[in-house]
Amino acid sequence: MPDPKTKVCDDCDSVIAADAKVCPACGMDFEETEETIKALDHAEKVRAKRKARSQKEPEKKVETPNQPESVFRKLMRLRKEREANNANK
Ligand SMILES: [Zn+2]
Repeated sequence: MPDPKTKVCDDCDSVIAADAKVCPACGMDFEETEETIKALDHAEKVRAKRKARSQKEPEKKVETPNQPESVFRKLMRLRKEREANNANK
């Protein structure tokens, strides 16, 4: 039986303290990860809805080029930029 005072890191599979907020082995932030998972779940729902809607109404295409960048989009863009920078090194 697993020790109730420990948990396994989702990222690196290290066994760490159950109340740890950050993995001491790989540095993963559990709270941040939970938030990201929630955001991704939400994005997934929105995407599914959009897909269903576009299949119902294939004629209607609403273009909103001047829409301000959402926080989520910005996050994804920054992450892509960071990955691109790392790849160049
Ligand atoms: Zn870890």
